[in-house]
Amino acid sequence: MKITLVGTGYVGLVSGTCLAETGINVECVDTDSRKIENLNRGIIPIYEPGLAPMIKRNVDAGRLNFSTNLKDSVKESQAVLIAVGTPPDEDGSADLKYVLAVAEDIGRYMTDYLLVITKSTVPIGTAEKVRNKIKEALAERGANIEFDVASNPEFLKEGDAVNDCMKPDRIIVGADSDRAFRIIEKLYKPFVLNGHPVIYMDIPSAEMTKYAANAILATKISFINDMANLCERVGADINMVRRGIGSDSRIGNKFIYAGLGYGGSCFPKDVKAIIKTASEYDYDLKVMKAVDEVNERQKESIYHKLINHFDNNIKGKKIGIWGLSFKPNTDDMREAPSLTLIQRFLENGAEVTAYDPAAMEEARRRLGDKITYSEDSYGALVDADALVLVTEWNEFRNPNWTVINKLMKTKVVFDGRNIYEREILEQSGFKYYGIGR
Ligand code: NAD
Repeated sequence: MKITLVGTGYVGLVSGTCLAETGINVECVDTDSRKIENLNRGIIPIYEPGLAPMIKRNVDAGRLNFSTNLKDSVKESQAVLIAVGTPPDEDGSADLKYVLAVAEDIGRYMTDYLLVITKSTVPIGTAEKVRNKIKEALAERGANIEFDVASNPEFLKEGDAVNDCMKPDRIIVGADSDRAFRIIEKLYKPFVLNGHPVIYMDIPSAEMTKYAANAILATKISFINDMANLCERVGADINMVRRGIGSDSRIGNKFIYAGLGYGGSCFPKDVKAIIKTASEYDYDLKVMKAVDEVNERQKESIYHKLINHFDNNIKGKKIGIWGLSFKPNTDDMREAPSLTLIQRFLENGAEVTAYDPAAMEEARRRLGDKITYSEDSYGALVDADALVLVTEWNEFRNPNWTVINKLMKTKVVFDGRNIYEREILEQSGFKYYGIGR
């Protein structure tokens, strides 16, 4: 069986590689010719643990190829999976221009029956739009070729994407023809054999499932951050409260860590997109609006603490930042809280020196010479007036406070992820600020 994966980003590259790992022939197609050239030379465009050796193994076995030629790839494939980006449009809705451009090309190039599966996160009703685009392109050619559409939203987490893809909690499939279900069953059989469920449903329910999943995860984060802010005011510690509520199996202990809010390429845009979808159906999605609002506020919470600490004047202060990616184990900085904080620090006249274990190249691309970059974590703290921990990479968890004490000019630590203990820091001579403690 041969399939085409269109869009060789975090989702397309990881899921294409994982499908190749099960023995399927996969061609990953992208319009970014540099990315494809690099992949063909063995250069991997993203940082994702475990991905590089898996790509190499499958390329060497001849099961995984990279190309910019959608036309040839479509002709040889039984199924095409669309995994291109769906960035937010100006009004918050998901911009479908890339998805629909691919659909049009598929209609132009297909020569035989094809199953067209959407993996990108797309609003309810997109599969129908994809179907219509393909129909129009076929009609233009005067071609009458059968095809089906299906929705197979992706749930992988950046930083643990390979694992998520190989051992998914569940695979969601929305389709409306037996032929489509049979092809998808074949595609995902190796995963089912390992006991991971494939949940079949109608197409709108599959599209909705992805948004509902991200909506509840984002809600948990904004909920705990809201509680954390109240904890600070009433003299409670959110870490204690988290442990207290997380031990209730109805609540669970995942996704209830207070911090600097959610970022990344999914939650911010998907929360906005589902609010927009609801408004198009004349429904006011009040909970999600509040989730979004709380998150925007939370990204700045450390900034307010820092500026208060320095009596509203941080001009010329040197701020050392640990962590730039939106979460650990990725180089992705899309919507990262670090960007919000850095912007606020710079516009108030502070100087920023930053270090991240994986996102330095991405940071240089985004921020250029607005900030200084350090080769290692301690280098970012030389003569610093403050340390701001933004991303909880493992290497930041147990630093040598004696060394840091000697390096920093002013001994103050802003712990945006609550990974340090106030007592230990105070004993080491630091002033400590956390979130909700
Ligand atoms: P990405 O930006 O990393 O990659 C998208 C790729 O699509 C790019 O390489 C781009 O060049 C390519 N592309 C754009 N138009 C194209 C076209 N016409 N033909 C071929 N290639 C084209 O995006 P991503 O993070 O992989 O996300 C893709 C989709 O999956 C989005 O809808 C996203 O919401 C969803 N998703 C992402 C994640 C995640 O963790 N990143 C998780 C689940 C779902």
